[in-house]
Amino acid sequence: MTSEQTFVVVGGNLTAGAAVTTLRDQGFDQRIVVIGEEPHPPYERPPLSKQYLRGESTADSALLHPPSWYADADVELRLGLRAVRLDPVGRAVELRDGERIVYDKLLIATGGQNRRLAVPGTDLQGIHQLRTMEEADAIRAELRPGRTAVVGGGLPPPDRA
Ligand SMILES: Cc1cc2nc3c(=O)[nH]c(=O)nc-3n(C[C@H](O)[C@H](O)[C@H](O)COP(=O)(O)OP(=O)(O)OC[C@H]3O[C@@H](n4cnc5c(N)ncnc54)[C@H](O)[C@@H]3O)c2cc1C
Repeated sequence: MTSEQTFVVVGGNLTAGAAVTTLRDQGFDQRIVVIGEEPHPPYERPPLSKQYLRGESTADSALLHPPSWYADADVELRLGLRAVRLDPVGRAVELRDGERIVYDKLLIATGGQNRRLAVPGTDLQGIHQLRTMEEADAIRAELRPGRTAVVGGGLPPPDRA
């Protein structure tokens, strides 16, 4: 008799969501655990700078799947948890609270982070960055007719890529 395998995905957003969807679609019937630092199930970020920011769509509509999909697909979503250490010898991921999750297969899907403007003052009130739903909410809360916004972004120059 073979024992159950555990497939762990670290990083709980679009790549993680797409990967576990594919695993189930392709017939993988073993245990799947997704460890994500954000409190939301996998969601699409593009609306955050578009219709969601304009208040024309809801947070739920940005989700890759409704939360019930993960329960129905028997995918364990461990949200609001940060993986802090990988033990490749013991085949385990350690979480910030000390919990160890042993894996047979591991996918690291931790994505990217915003590059903060390296000038004084970026921590002042009214200065935002945009990557998460909460950051979109914070910007949306300040959008009012008559106010002026300065927007910077895009790809870094080649010497800083
Ligand atoms: C505002 C905005 C608009 C965008 N618009 C477009 C668009 O129009 N078209 C387009 O093609 N792309 C767009 N993108 C890019 C697109 O959203 C990304 O390519 C996509 O989110 C990548 O998904 P990902 O899952 O690989 O990484 P991410 O979305 O970065 O997700 C990685 C996740 O891993 C989590 N994580 C990281 N480290 C750990 C850890 N140690 N433990 C646990 N969890 C961890 C993070 O908190 C995050 O939730 C946009 C991005 C942003 C921010």
